[in-house]
Amino acid sequence: MAAKVDLTTSTDWKEAKSFLKGLNNKKRREHYFTRDFIKLKQIPTWKEMAKSARIKQPEETVFPKDNHLNDKISLFRGDITKVEVDAVVNAANSSLLGGGGVDGCIHRAAGPLLKEECRALNGCETGKAKISCGYRLPAKFVIHTVGPIAQGEPSAAQEAELSNCYKNSLKLAAENKLRTVAFPCISTGVFGYPNDAAAELVLNTLHTWLEENKDKVDRLIICVFLEKDDEIYKEKLPRFFPVDACGGALPSRL
Ligand code: ADP
Repeated sequence: MAAKVDLTTSTDWKEAKSFLKGLNNKKRREHYFTRDFIKLKQIPTWKEMAKSARIKQPEETVFPKDNHLNDKISLFRGDITKVEVDAVVNAANSSLLGGGGVDGCIHRAAGPLLKEECRALNGCETGKAKISCGYRLPAKFVIHTVGPIAQGEPSAAQEAELSNCYKNSLKLAAENKLRTVAFPCISTGVFGYPNDAAAELVLNTLHTWLEENKDKVDRLIICVFLEKDDEIYKEKLPRFFPVDACGGALPSRL
């Protein structure tokens, strides 16, 4: 068995990574940066959420209803650094050496070993993705992807790049047999991609990927941070991931 490594003081990312790889889930928890982490079972699936929130189903939908896919997708509002999943996706910049926004939060929570491993990844092009260990994060791995810098109306090339961020992250997840993945709203912060257009593209991309790869993952979590994004996704999800219409008309008064 590998010698115990203290993740708060270690400076050797390779040793720390191989130590963490040898731990079971319970033991890994001793090394999280927070005790206040969020277990997967605390995050409802979209099917459960739609049922409890009595979501109104629009008549016009982009895709037909598929309850199996509704079990594989979640909308969660909160801090992605606290979610206990196989991988969180990082909206990184091309250096992969950390930055502001969600990138800064992920690096602070994971600890300095993350930056050390990222140095060895030699940067990343827009739309591509690279993987590292999660270190002190409750997520086992971080998939770093670089979104397009839009600052306003996105071009067709930028739309393709944002979609590729999601597709290439999912490809890496599947190749590494990672079955639960949380995504932030890539490019919609400092990189200025319009929130509404991003959400349409993300839901389209995730639905299409799930249709072709549903057996490869258990859960894809759209992790929103801002109320604005929460509202946008709640409004759009029923069009892309239709659910059973519930509630119906209230009984009319006699
Ligand atoms: P980008 O440079 O790709 O635009 P940002 O980090 O600026 O990335 O913003 C991407 C999204 O991440 C924004 O919606 C922002 O509100 C959100 N965000 C910031 N911090 C966190 C966090 N800790 N957890 C989840 N999402 C976050």
